[in-house]
Amino acid sequence: MKETVIILGSNGQIGTELAIALREKFGVENVVTTDIREPQNLGSHDIFHPINVLDKEALKALFLTYKPTQVYLLAAMLSATGEQYPQKAWDLNMNGLLNVLDLAVELGIKKIFWPSSIAVFGPHSPKVNTPQYCVMDPNSIYGISKLSGERLCEYYHAKYGLDIRSIRYPGIISWKTAPGGGTTDYAVHIFFEALAKGAYQSFLSENTALPMMYMNDAVRATLQLMDAPAEQLRIRSSYNLAGISFTPAEIAEEIKKILPNFDMSYAQGDPRQAIADSWPQSIDDTYAQQDWDWSLHFDLPAMTKDMIENLKNNNS
Ligand code: NAD
Repeated sequence: MKETVIILGSNGQIGTELAIALREKFGVENVVTTDIREPQNLGSHDIFHPINVLDKEALKALFLTYKPTQVYLLAAMLSATGEQYPQKAWDLNMNGLLNVLDLAVELGIKKIFWPSSIAVFGPHSPKVNTPQYCVMDPNSIYGISKLSGERLCEYYHAKYGLDIRSIRYPGIISWKTAPGGGTTDYAVHIFFEALAKGAYQSFLSENTALPMMYMNDAVRATLQLMDAPAEQLRIRSSYNLAGISFTPAEIAEEIKKILPNFDMSYAQGDPRQAIADSWPQSIDDTYAQQDWDWSLHFDLPAMTKDMIENLKNNNS
Protein backbone atom coordinates (compact mmCIF):
# COMPACT_ATOMS: atom_id res chain seq x y z
CA MET A 1 0.00 0.00 0.00
CA LYS A 2 1.23 3.51 -0.82
CA GLU A 3 1.95 5.47 2.34
CA THR A 4 1.59 9.24 2.61
CA VAL A 5 3.25 10.74 5.66
CA ILE A 6 2.76 14.10 7.40
CA ILE A 7 5.19 15.31 10.07
CA LEU A 8 3.94 18.08 12.37
CA GLY A 9 6.80 19.99 14.05
CA SER A 10 9.34 18.70 11.52
CA ASN A 11 12.05 21.36 12.00
CA GLY A 12 13.13 20.37 15.50
CA GLN A 13 15.84 18.06 16.79
CA ILE A 14 13.95 14.83 16.10
CA GLY A 15 11.78 15.94 13.16
CA THR A 16 14.77 16.99 11.06
CA GLU A 17 16.28 13.51 11.20
CA LEU A 18 13.01 11.58 11.17
CA ALA A 19 12.07 13.45 7.97
CA ILE A 20 15.30 12.29 6.30
CA ALA A 21 14.62 8.68 7.31
CA LEU A 22 10.96 8.79 6.24
CA ARG A 23 11.86 10.33 2.86
CA GLU A 24 14.36 7.52 2.32
CA LYS A 25 11.77 4.93 3.27
CA PHE A 26 8.67 6.24 1.48
CA GLY A 27 10.04 8.63 -1.19
CA VAL A 28 10.45 12.42 -1.06
CA GLU A 29 7.12 12.95 -2.81
CA ASN A 30 5.26 11.03 -0.09
CA VAL A 31 6.52 12.91 2.96
CA VAL A 32 4.97 16.26 3.85
CA THR A 33 6.86 18.27 6.46
CA THR A 34 5.20 21.07 8.47
CA ASP A 35 6.21 23.36 11.31
CA ILE A 36 5.28 26.75 12.75
CA ARG A 37 8.79 27.93 11.72
CA GLU A 38 10.22 27.95 8.19
CA PRO A 39 12.86 25.23 7.69
CA GLN A 40 16.52 26.23 7.35
CA ASN A 41 17.46 23.65 4.72
CA LEU A 42 14.90 22.37 2.26
CA GLY A 43 15.80 20.00 -0.59
CA SER A 44 14.48 21.05 -3.99
CA HIS A 45 11.85 18.25 -3.97
CA ASP A 46 11.03 18.38 -0.26
CA ILE A 47 7.43 19.32 0.56
CA PHE A 48 6.92 21.86 3.39
CA HIS A 49 3.89 23.82 4.64
CA PRO A 50 3.84 26.26 7.56
CA ILE A 51 1.24 24.87 10.00
CA ASN A 52 0.38 25.69 13.60
CA VAL A 53 -0.91 22.49 15.25
CA LEU A 54 -3.19 24.63 17.41
CA ASP A 55 -5.04 25.79 14.27
CA LYS A 56 -7.44 22.88 13.84
CA GLU A 57 -9.02 24.21 10.64
CA ALA A 58 -5.62 24.54 8.97
CA LEU A 59 -4.70 21.03 10.13
CA LYS A 60 -7.94 19.66 8.76
CA ALA A 61 -7.38 21.35 5.39
CA LEU A 62 -3.84 19.88 5.29
CA PHE A 63 -5.12 16.38 6.06
CA LEU A 64 -7.92 16.68 3.46
CA THR A 65 -5.41 17.79 0.83
CA TYR A 66 -2.84 15.04 1.39
CA LYS A 67 -4.99 12.24 2.87
CA PRO A 68 -2.10 10.97 5.01
CA THR A 69 -1.90 7.32 6.05
CA GLN A 70 0.61 8.19 8.80
CA VAL A 71 0.93 11.35 10.92
CA TYR A 72 3.89 12.05 13.22
CA LEU A 73 3.10 14.73 15.82
CA LEU A 74 6.39 16.18 17.11
CA ALA A 75 5.36 19.78 17.88
CA ALA A 76 5.69 20.29 21.63
CA MET A 77 7.25 22.51 24.27
CA LEU A 78 10.03 20.65 26.09
CA SER A 79 10.78 20.32 29.80
CA ALA A 80 13.08 23.26 30.56
CA THR A 81 11.25 25.78 28.33
CA GLY A 82 7.94 24.47 29.67
CA GLU A 83 8.87 25.56 33.19
CA GLN A 84 9.25 29.13 31.90
CA TYR A 85 5.88 29.10 30.10
CA PRO A 86 3.69 26.51 31.86
CA GLN A 87 0.35 27.64 30.38
CA LYS A 88 1.76 27.71 26.86
CA ALA A 89 3.38 24.31 27.35
CA TRP A 90 0.09 22.80 28.53
CA ASP A 91 -1.85 24.43 25.68
CA LEU A 92 0.53 23.26 22.94
CA ASN A 93 1.22 19.79 24.32
CA MET A 94 -2.43 18.95 25.09
CA ASN A 95 -4.45 20.82 22.47
CA GLY A 96 -2.01 20.01 19.67
CA LEU A 97 -2.45 16.32 20.53
CA LEU A 98 -6.24 16.56 20.91
CA ASN A 99 -6.56 18.28 17.52
CA VAL A 100 -4.65 15.46 15.85
CA LEU A 101 -6.50 12.69 17.71
CA ASP A 102 -9.92 14.14 16.89
CA LEU A 103 -9.09 14.72 13.22
CA ALA A 104 -7.56 11.25 12.93
CA VAL A 105 -10.84 9.74 14.15
CA GLU A 106 -12.97 12.07 12.00
CA LEU A 107 -10.97 11.51 8.82
CA GLY A 108 -9.97 7.87 9.37
CA ILE A 109 -6.20 8.39 9.42
CA LYS A 110 -4.62 4.94 9.67
CA LYS A 111 -1.62 5.44 11.98
CA ILE A 112 -0.44 8.16 14.33
CA PHE A 113 2.92 8.51 16.07
CA TRP A 114 3.22 10.76 19.13
CA PRO A 115 6.27 10.71 21.41
CA SER A 116 6.08 10.71 25.16
CA SER A 117 9.10 11.04 27.44
CA ILE A 118 10.85 9.70 30.56
CA ALA A 119 9.46 12.94 32.08
CA VAL A 120 6.20 11.05 32.78
CA PHE A 121 7.94 9.56 35.83
CA GLY A 122 8.29 11.50 39.06
CA PRO A 123 9.90 11.54 42.50
CA HIS A 124 8.01 8.45 43.72
CA SER A 125 8.66 6.33 40.63
CA PRO A 126 11.42 3.71 41.08
CA LYS A 127 14.64 5.37 39.91
CA VAL A 128 16.59 2.34 38.71
CA ASN A 129 15.30 0.11 35.91
CA THR A 130 12.03 2.04 36.06
CA PRO A 131 9.34 -0.41 34.92
CA GLN A 132 6.63 0.23 32.32
CA TYR A 133 3.96 0.23 35.03
CA CYS A 134 4.66 1.94 38.36
CA VAL A 135 3.78 5.03 40.41
CA MET A 136 3.87 8.05 38.09
CA ASP A 137 3.79 11.47 39.73
CA PRO A 138 5.54 13.87 37.31
CA ASN A 139 6.10 17.32 38.77
CA SER A 140 7.13 19.31 35.69
CA ILE A 141 4.40 20.77 33.47
CA TYR A 142 6.04 18.93 30.58
CA GLY A 143 5.84 15.58 32.39
CA ILE A 144 2.26 16.25 33.47
CA SER A 145 1.28 17.03 29.87
CA LYS A 146 3.06 13.92 28.56
CA LEU A 147 1.40 11.62 31.10
CA SER A 148 -2.01 13.15 30.28
CA GLY A 149 -1.20 12.69 26.58
CA GLU A 150 -0.43 9.01 27.17
CA ARG A 151 -3.79 8.52 28.87
CA LEU A 152 -5.52 10.22 25.92
CA CYS A 153 -3.71 7.99 23.41
CA GLU A 154 -4.77 4.84 25.22
CA TYR A 155 -8.32 6.20 25.54
CA TYR A 156 -8.61 7.02 21.81
CA HIS A 157 -7.28 3.57 20.96
CA ALA A 158 -9.76 1.84 23.27
CA LYS A 159 -12.78 4.02 22.44
CA TYR A 160 -12.30 4.70 18.72
CA GLY A 161 -9.84 1.99 17.61
CA LEU A 162 -7.28 4.63 16.65
CA ASP A 163 -3.92 3.04 15.81
CA ILE A 164 -1.71 5.39 17.79
CA ARG A 165 1.82 4.37 18.73
CA SER A 166 4.19 6.00 21.15
CA ILE A 167 7.64 5.80 22.73
CA ARG A 168 8.83 7.38 25.96
CA TYR A 169 12.01 8.78 24.46
CA PRO A 170 14.98 9.21 26.78
CA GLY A 171 17.15 12.33 26.22
CA ILE A 172 18.08 12.34 22.53
CA ILE A 173 21.66 13.04 21.47
CA SER A 174 22.36 14.21 17.93
CA TRP A 175 24.68 16.43 15.89
CA LYS A 176 22.52 17.63 12.94
CA THR A 177 20.07 19.88 14.80
CA ALA A 178 20.35 21.64 18.15
CA PRO A 179 18.12 20.34 20.96
CA GLY A 180 14.95 22.28 21.76
CA GLY A 181 15.09 23.22 25.46
CA GLY A 182 15.13 19.97 27.42
CA THR A 183 16.79 18.87 30.66
CA THR A 184 19.10 16.44 28.85
CA ASP A 185 20.45 19.07 26.41
CA TYR A 186 23.82 19.13 28.25
CA ALA A 187 24.69 15.78 26.66
CA VAL A 188 24.50 17.43 23.22
CA HIS A 189 26.07 20.80 24.13
CA ILE A 190 29.07 19.02 25.67
CA PHE A 191 30.17 17.68 22.26
CA PHE A 192 29.88 21.04 20.50
CA GLU A 193 31.84 22.82 23.24
CA ALA A 194 34.43 20.04 23.59
CA LEU A 195 35.34 20.55 19.95
CA ALA A 196 34.96 24.35 19.84
CA LYS A 197 36.54 25.28 23.20
CA GLY A 198 38.04 22.13 24.72
CA ALA A 199 35.93 22.73 27.84
CA TYR A 200 32.33 22.52 29.04
CA GLN A 201 30.45 23.54 32.14
CA SER A 202 27.60 21.09 32.81
CA PHE A 203 24.36 22.51 34.21
CA LEU A 204 23.70 19.11 35.85
CA SER A 205 25.85 17.80 38.71
CA GLU A 206 28.54 15.24 37.98
CA ASN A 207 26.66 12.22 39.36
CA THR A 208 23.22 12.87 37.82
CA ALA A 209 22.53 9.68 35.85
CA LEU A 210 19.84 9.96 33.18
CA PRO A 211 18.68 7.69 30.34
CA MET A 212 19.77 8.95 26.91
CA MET A 213 19.73 7.64 23.35
CA TYR A 214 21.64 8.36 20.16
CA MET A 215 19.44 9.79 17.40
CA ASN A 216 20.21 6.88 15.03
CA ASP A 217 18.66 4.49 17.55
CA ALA A 218 15.72 6.82 18.29
CA VAL A 219 14.82 7.12 14.60
CA ARG A 220 15.26 3.37 14.05
CA ALA A 221 13.03 2.65 17.06
CA THR A 222 10.34 4.97 15.73
CA LEU A 223 10.28 3.35 12.28
CA GLN A 224 10.36 -0.14 13.83
CA LEU A 225 7.41 0.59 16.12
CA MET A 226 5.41 2.07 13.23
CA ASP A 227 6.09 -1.08 11.14
CA ALA A 228 5.14 -3.55 13.89
CA PRO A 229 1.89 -5.53 13.39
CA ALA A 230 -0.85 -3.82 15.44
CA GLU A 231 -1.88 -7.05 17.17
CA GLN A 232 1.62 -7.43 18.68
CA LEU A 233 1.44 -4.09 20.50
CA ARG A 234 0.32 -4.54 24.09
CA ILE A 235 0.97 -0.93 25.02
CA ARG A 236 -1.15 1.90 23.66
CA SER A 237 -0.08 4.52 26.16
CA SER A 238 3.68 4.69 25.44
CA TYR A 239 6.55 2.21 25.41
CA ASN A 240 9.50 2.52 27.82
CA LEU A 241 12.79 2.67 25.89
CA ALA A 242 16.00 2.30 27.88
CA GLY A 243 18.79 3.75 25.77
CA ILE A 244 22.05 4.32 27.65
CA SER A 245 22.28 5.67 31.17
CA PHE A 246 25.27 7.77 32.17
CA THR A 247 26.27 10.75 34.32
CA PRO A 248 27.96 13.98 33.16
CA ALA A 249 31.20 12.66 34.71
CA GLU A 250 30.97 9.43 32.72
CA ILE A 251 30.37 11.12 29.36
CA ALA A 252 33.22 13.55 30.11
CA GLU A 253 35.54 10.55 30.70
CA GLU A 254 34.47 9.01 27.41
CA ILE A 255 35.12 12.27 25.54
CA LYS A 256 38.57 12.49 27.18
CA LYS A 257 39.48 9.14 25.62
CA ILE A 258 39.25 10.87 22.22
CA LEU A 259 40.05 14.47 23.24
CA PRO A 260 42.50 14.04 26.17
CA ASN A 261 42.71 17.78 26.96
CA PHE A 262 38.96 18.17 27.43
CA ASP A 263 38.12 19.98 30.66
CA MET A 264 34.77 19.48 32.40
CA SER A 265 33.33 21.63 35.20
CA TYR A 266 29.96 21.77 36.95
CA ALA A 267 27.62 24.71 37.59
CA GLN A 268 25.43 24.78 40.68
CA GLY A 269 21.88 25.98 41.20
CA ASP A 270 20.52 25.45 37.68
CA PRO A 271 16.72 24.87 37.75
CA ARG A 272 17.10 21.91 35.38
CA GLN A 273 18.80 19.96 38.20
CA ALA A 274 15.49 19.65 40.08
CA ILE A 275 13.77 18.26 36.98
CA ALA A 276 16.61 15.77 36.40
CA ASP A 277 16.46 14.66 40.05
CA SER A 278 12.80 13.74 39.65
CA TRP A 279 13.47 11.50 36.60
CA PRO A 280 14.61 7.86 36.37
CA GLN A 281 18.29 6.97 36.21
CA SER A 282 17.67 3.92 34.04
CA ILE A 283 14.69 2.32 32.32
CA ASP A 284 13.37 -1.21 31.83
CA ASP A 285 12.24 -1.67 28.21
CA THR A 286 11.28 -5.36 28.28
CA TYR A 287 7.92 -4.68 26.59
CA ALA A 288 9.58 -3.01 23.58
CA GLN A 289 12.05 -5.90 23.29
CA GLN A 290 9.26 -8.48 23.40
CA ASP A 291 6.56 -6.73 21.35
CA TRP A 292 8.57 -5.26 18.48
CA ASP A 293 12.03 -6.80 18.78
CA TRP A 294 13.71 -3.68 20.05
CA SER A 295 17.46 -3.69 20.68
CA LEU A 296 19.92 -0.84 21.09
CA HIS A 297 22.87 -0.37 18.68
CA PHE A 298 24.79 2.58 20.15
CA ASP A 299 26.35 2.32 23.61
CA LEU A 300 28.20 5.26 25.22
CA PRO A 301 31.61 4.67 23.54
CA ALA A 302 30.06 4.07 20.09
CA MET A 303 27.87 7.16 20.39
CA THR A 304 30.72 9.37 21.60
CA LYS A 305 32.98 8.27 18.74
CA ASP A 306 30.26 8.80 16.12
CA MET A 307 29.26 12.22 17.49
CA ILE A 308 32.83 13.51 17.48
CA GLU A 309 33.60 12.13 14.01
CA ASN A 310 30.47 13.68 12.52
CA LEU A 311 30.93 17.05 14.20
CA LYS A 312 34.56 17.18 13.07
CA ASN A 313 33.58 16.32 9.46
CA ASN A 314 30.79 18.86 9.59
CA ASN A 315 33.17 21.65 10.58
CA SER A 316 35.99 20.76 8.18
P1 NAD B 1 12.08 20.52 19.28
O1 NAD B 1 11.74 21.57 20.25
O2 NAD B 1 13.49 20.42 18.79
O3 NAD B 1 11.13 20.63 18.01
C1 NAD B 1 9.74 20.89 18.11
C2 NAD B 1 9.30 21.56 16.82
O4 NAD B 1 7.92 21.91 16.97
C3 NAD B 1 10.06 22.87 16.52
O5 NAD B 1 10.60 22.82 15.21
C4 NAD B 1 8.99 23.95 16.66
O6 NAD B 1 9.16 25.03 15.76
C5 NAD B 1 7.73 23.17 16.37
N1 NAD B 1 6.54 23.81 16.93
C6 NAD B 1 6.43 24.48 18.11
N2 NAD B 1 5.17 24.94 18.27
C7 NAD B 1 4.48 24.55 17.17
C8 NAD B 1 3.14 24.73 16.75
N3 NAD B 1 2.24 25.41 17.51
N4 NAD B 1 2.76 24.18 15.57
C9 NAD B 1 3.65 23.52 14.80
N5 NAD B 1 4.94 23.34 15.14
C10 NAD B 1 5.34 23.85 16.32
O7 NAD B 1 11.62 19.12 19.91
P2 NAD B 1 12.19 17.67 19.59
O8 NAD B 1 13.34 17.43 20.49
O9 NAD B 1 12.33 17.45 18.14
O10 NAD B 1 10.98 16.79 20.18
C11 NAD B 1 9.97 16.25 19.37
C12 NAD B 1 9.03 15.46 20.24
O11 NAD B 1 9.76 14.44 20.95
C13 NAD B 1 8.32 16.29 21.33
O12 NAD B 1 7.03 15.78 21.53
C14 NAD B 1 9.17 16.03 22.56
O13 NAD B 1 8.41 16.19 23.72
C15 NAD B 1 9.54 14.57 22.34
N6 NAD B 1 10.75 14.20 23.09
C16 NAD B 1 11.97 14.72 22.78
C17 NAD B 1 13.09 14.36 23.51
C18 NAD B 1 14.46 14.91 23.18
O14 NAD B 1 15.42 14.62 23.90
N7 NAD B 1 14.62 15.68 22.10
C19 NAD B 1 12.97 13.45 24.57
C20 NAD B 1 11.71 12.96 24.90
C21 NAD B 1 10.61 13.31 24.13
